[in-house]
Amino acid sequence: MDARLVLLPGDGIGPEVVDQAQRVLQAIASRFGHAFHYECRPMGGNAIDSHGTPLPDETLGACRQSAAVLLGAVGGPKWDDPHAKTRPEAGLLAIRKELGLFANLRPIKPSPWLLSASPLRSEIISGTDILFVRELTGGLYFGASGRRPHASGEEAYSTMTYNTGEVERVVRVAAEAARKRRGRLTMVDKANVLEASRLWRAVSARLMAAEFPEVKYDVVLVDSMAMHLISRPRDFDVVVTENMFGDILTDEGSMLTGSMGLLPSASLGSSGPGLYEPIHGSAPDIAGQGVANPLAAILAASMLLRHSLHLETEAESIETAVDNVLSAGFRTRDIAAGGPSLGTIEMGTRVIEALAR
Ligand code: NAD
Repeated sequence: MDARLVLLPGDGIGPEVVDQAQRVLQAIASRFGHAFHYECRPMGGNAIDSHGTPLPDETLGACRQSAAVLLGAVGGPKWDDPHAKTRPEAGLLAIRKELGLFANLRPIKPSPWLLSASPLRSEIISGTDILFVRELTGGLYFGASGRRPHASGEEAYSTMTYNTGEVERVVRVAAEAARKRRGRLTMVDKANVLEASRLWRAVSARLMAAEFPEVKYDVVLVDSMAMHLISRPRDFDVVVTENMFGDILTDEGSMLTGSMGLLPSASLGSSGPGLYEPIHGSAPDIAGQGVANPLAAILAASMLLRHSLHLETEAESIETAVDNVLSAGFRTRDIAAGGPSLGTIEMGTRVIEALAR
């Protein structure tokens, strides 16, 4: 395969972890006989410094022309001024919107070698394997919002809006994933209170009956889901939900694994390139020290191979290599529990060595 990939290393530890993911992609290309062509572009705080905007036109143009985009992380104290004209995170929202990335996929699968890193007891999380599918371009974060005068001072409002098509397309992505996994889909909403949730419920039920009768489908209220996630996470396969509920639940879910440095995510649209990134931020507290955990970025590269290039064997070989590195006891500082640890580059090298075996 010949594929053009755009790398957006971003800020802080972003470049450090994306370097390792690129080395791993290169190792895959040599081993399986593919040619990956990389284009590195500015995005986030570094792009504000060099171009005055977090998502320069040429960066967006390059992304549109690519097969897939691998992002590190953006942001940091340098660009935190609340009065600044623009912020690095604006680039994230813009790229999602511009590329039409409406479905955010986040696998939550605690490593059996790191169960003790979780704040939960290992008997609760052992065997957990959830794929969250979060709607990414609608709902409260994109609906009408504003402020208006009020007798007590001011009134602020944010609106949760969804239409049939927006619900159908993301539920379809989730149901297709469920069909390839353990065949179960849970839709999370707040239909006892919100009209938007009642639309989600009606549209999802209709779609599942018509297109996915073989997928076992159920619905759970978001407040119950927040509890189930920490009391019986093993019981879920694919979970689909709207933007804000997904924002909160996926962060709760990430804590099941005990380390931000291990979790990747993918954002997909109906056509065009997908965007792949670790879920962690730019970690300014450890940037430049060479100690960041590159595994989330490396696993994001594996999702890229699976979802954008349809190279399932190659994706699985990265996941197996990461698993073998962890089972052999190699750790970066964030997951070493005070024990011996490897730096970012050494961890990348261990994964590449494990790929070769
Ligand atoms: P963070 O994820 O950057 O860091 C939280 C903690 O986890 C820190 O102690 C950090 O050292 C540690 N950590 C994170 N990733 C790690 C890794 N790979 N290896 C080892 N340790 C790791 O979150 P934050 O501190 O809240 O945010 C820092 C900056 O990142 C902010 O500017 C924020 O806006 C931005 N951010 C960006 C994204 C993104 O680009 N998608 C996501 C979240 C936060």
